[in-house]
Amino acid sequence: MTSLHTFPTPQIPTVQTPPHEHAWLVESRHPTSEGTVVYVHCEGCAMRRVDMQLHPQMPPTALSRDLPA
Ligand SMILES: [Zn+2]
Repeated sequence: MTSLHTFPTPQIPTVQTPPHEHAWLVESRHPTSEGTVVYVHCEGCAMRRVDMQLHPQMPPTALSRDLPA
């Protein structure tokens, strides 16, 4: 007898890359009257983000959500 008790394996399509610590690399900086707009991208997954750095001594805050390439 062959066993018919086979469990269906759920095939969930995963289009997203597994979460990891993004390694943001600065692509370009654009000084504005509000602060410096910093365009960054992740070397690991090519994710892109736009940051706003209000002061040179302050870490930039994310203006945009993480944008997949
Ligand atoms: Zn990444």
